[in-house]
Amino acid sequence: MTAFQRVVVLGSTGSIGVSTLDVIARHPERMAVYALSAHSRMERLAEQALASRAAVVVVPDAEARRRFIEAWPSGQATPEIRVGGQALADTAADPQCDSVMAAIVGAAGLPAALAAARAGKRVLLANKEALVAAGSLFMQAIRDNGAELLPIDSEHNAIFQCLPHQGRAVAPSSPARGVRRLLLTASGGPFRGRDLEDLHEVTPAEACAHPNWSMGRKISVDSATMLNKGLEVIEAHWLFAMPADRIEVVVHPQSVVHSMVEYDDGSVLAQLGQPDMRTPIAYGLGFPDRLESGVGPLDLTRLGRLDFEKPDLSRFPCLAHSFAALRAGQGACVALNAANEVAVEAFLDGRLAYTWIPRVIEAALEWQARQASVTLSSLDDVLALDAESRAFAGNLGLA
Ligand code: NDP
Repeated sequence: MTAFQRVVVLGSTGSIGVSTLDVIARHPERMAVYALSAHSRMERLAEQALASRAAVVVVPDAEARRRFIEAWPSGQATPEIRVGGQALADTAADPQCDSVMAAIVGAAGLPAALAAARAGKRVLLANKEALVAAGSLFMQAIRDNGAELLPIDSEHNAIFQCLPHQGRAVAPSSPARGVRRLLLTASGGPFRGRDLEDLHEVTPAEACAHPNWSMGRKISVDSATMLNKGLEVIEAHWLFAMPADRIEVVVHPQSVVHSMVEYDDGSVLAQLGQPDMRTPIAYGLGFPDRLESGVGPLDLTRLGRLDFEKPDLSRFPCLAHSFAALRAGQGACVALNAANEVAVEAFLDGRLAYTWIPRVIEAALEWQARQASVTLSSLDDVLALDAESRAFAGNLGLA
């Protein structure tokens, strides 16, 4: 894609959204913002729309629309304001745009990400929960509609960079030739060295204080429990058509090696860089070209050493639950993701202890395994099971 790109940024007010706008602003000769979306932070959305000259903004309801207009400076022409979930999906599929950054957090981002795939866009996928909940549906939509899929999650972006490709980001239906394993690196989060007994008491502020990355609150908690790495294992399975037993997680506390691909001949290719999401975002926006991202050079001599270790599953039961869900099937993955979203929200609101997050997930997986087997062949099927799983987790009285 070398022609001028008009970009929709879904979830522009979040951590990934802000980094995406930063990269776009560095390349006015190649790309511009077409539309932005936000859920609650209307003042920030207004500032972003003004600075990026967005033609369209999408907000969730009439009250958000009112707040957006209130935040907009008088005397300036307002962008078109679209309202509601259908408007979000329609904007992702808008003929006026070429690329869609899917950076809404949680399964709430699935319908719009899927709409972008069905409209044949270049989809820059940060929203991993969309793939976890509806991997098969999503990848089929990419293939059937000639869309391009660029993984933005740093680990998957690293793997993508280490795999052979022909200058177009297609969705594979079998593992790349010659690849033995995918090695996903994980920092281990803020509680890697903490006493297991202390974990019951940890606060949301502690869980959100990631040692290397600056991210939204939900993914920060997911990183602390390592459910994030579990979601990424499932994501890697779908993105690279790789079976679970050929995906391995390696703890790497420095977050410099973003992930690796091991080939049949014993070669291991890795992608390294600063822990700054502007690198994978610039790669996705520029692919197959390399763009300046604002990220500085990596000085390995100052770093001195890179460490790697096996993950401790007694400390991180969510990782084991994720592998179990992937092996059990799509219904279990929907339940895993939905229960986690409910549990993390309850933890962040102070209604649930940190150590109960894996227990809620485990209970939801057991519940889902007892249900009659479900066919998830449409978005409605996925959303129905997602809603049932949330209701189950919420009714546990824990969340
Ligand atoms: P943030 O919480 O920082 O931002 C989330 C964005 O989604 C905000 O713009 C928010 O709007 C919007 N949003 C929240 N709820 C809804 C909803 N129900 N409907 C529509 N929009 C909504 O998250 P991150 O940027 O950290 O993460 C975004 C996605 O990218 C996640 O799936 C995450 O797992 C993934 N990711 C993030 C990384 C990171 O470094 N942050 C790295 C790799 C992947 P508002 O702010 O206005 O409420």
